[in-house]
Amino acid sequence: MKQGDAAIELAEHRVDLERAAGVARIQAAVRGQVPPDYQISPYCKDCGNRIPDDRRNAMPCAERCFDCESLAERQSRRRA
Ligand SMILES: [Zn+2]
Repeated sequence: MKQGDAAIELAEHRVDLERAAGVARIQAAVRGQVPPDYQISPYCKDCGNRIPDDRRNAMPCAERCFDCESLAERQSRRRA
């Protein structure tokens, strides 16, 4: 086998793996079982607006935009 063929095969294998991982992640998300390596969506889970990149850089695990996060914090504080 030529070296180029191996590289192409490896690339195709990677694409397959990534596709399978993506499908598994979506299926897990649908079932509410998100694997730990799940990449958090750039969209706010409450209002669906895109979370600004500077906020995501500062808080990579942020699931909400600033407005919804402060609202959620206020609500959880009230509940506690
Ligand atoms: Zn929001």
